[in-house]
Amino acid sequence: MKCDKCGKEAVIYQRYSGMHLCAAHEIADVERKVKKRMRQEKMVIPGDHVAVGMSGGKDSAATLSILAETFGKRPEIKFTAITIDEGIEGYRNFSIPKVKELCDRLGVPHVVVSFKDEVGCTLDDMLKRERKEASCTYCGVFRRMLLNKKAREIGANKLATGHNLDDDAQTVLLNVLNGDVERLARLRPSRIQEGLVPRIKPLMDIPEREIALYAFLKKLPFYLGECPYAHESLRGEVKDMLNDFESRHPGTKYSIMRGFDSIVDCLKEKYRQVPLERCEICGEPSIDKTCQGCKLKQRIHIKI
Ligand code: SF4
Ligand SMILES: [Zn+2]
Ligand SMILES: [Zn+2]
Repeated sequence: MKCDKCGKEAVIYQRYSGMHLCAAHEIADVERKVKKRMRQEKMVIPGDHVAVGMSGGKDSAATLSILAETFGKRPEIKFTAITIDEGIEGYRNFSIPKVKELCDRLGVPHVVVSFKDEVGCTLDDMLKRERKEASCTYCGVFRRMLLNKKAREIGANKLATGHNLDDDAQTVLLNVLNGDVERLARLRPSRIQEGLVPRIKPLMDIPEREIALYAFLKKLPFYLGECPYAHESLRGEVKDMLNDFESRHPGTKYSIMRGFDSIVDCLKEKYRQVPLERCEICGEPSIDKTCQGCKLKQRIHIKI
């Protein structure tokens, strides 16, 4: 098949747009969409110090690469990559070197924060103590907390993550399946909460498979392996279901987000964001007097 824009060999067929694109035009298409969204939402502005959550996978690699290429030459905008090392044997030890390689290439400082140092226990050890819930639930509580804490400590005023179109569409569907409509409203926060570094998601309009292709075509260093706990979550099932739908009904993922965006203001009206308190134990922002991280630590007997 030939590229619909220039006639060269196509590397992808975007079923949702009906376009065949060559490598150069697919790269340009991804970058155009990301830059358009960043402009629309003023995601990065002069004076920003953006922390970028880096797992070492394709999504975070593409996020950092596009941010650095777009704004890297502007001295008034600063980037720092942050990797959370959860302590997952046979996974993080392979992905962290990839982040380092990319950061060195782009000239971006990189900090690694480990569960072991900050929480007092690796995720692997945590799961040996208790497995009442999916591994990602334990992981997510501390990962979110540490990412935010480190971003705040280094003085970042924004926190970029590699969430893509698939991630957001999965989150919408997952919360509907769980009947957790309040959590749905939180997908688009309406105000800045004290102690929480505002998040930006530059890749939110890009399907996951196109990010993988983009990272590959741009020869970005990234780790292809998957977290050994990933298959346990309900998200995995939702992901398969959505991919199946998308292949039979192209554009489904975009439709879900379009539908969600048309009702999100009503949801935010009904479920108003409550101001966060400070955890009485660790001082991190929390809905309750004790944050989820400290509750979990107490429950699984990690010293606080
Ligand atoms: S897949 Fe789950 S356990 Fe693995 S890093 Fe992601 S959130 Fe943590
Ligand atoms: Zn082309
Ligand atoms: Zn706490």
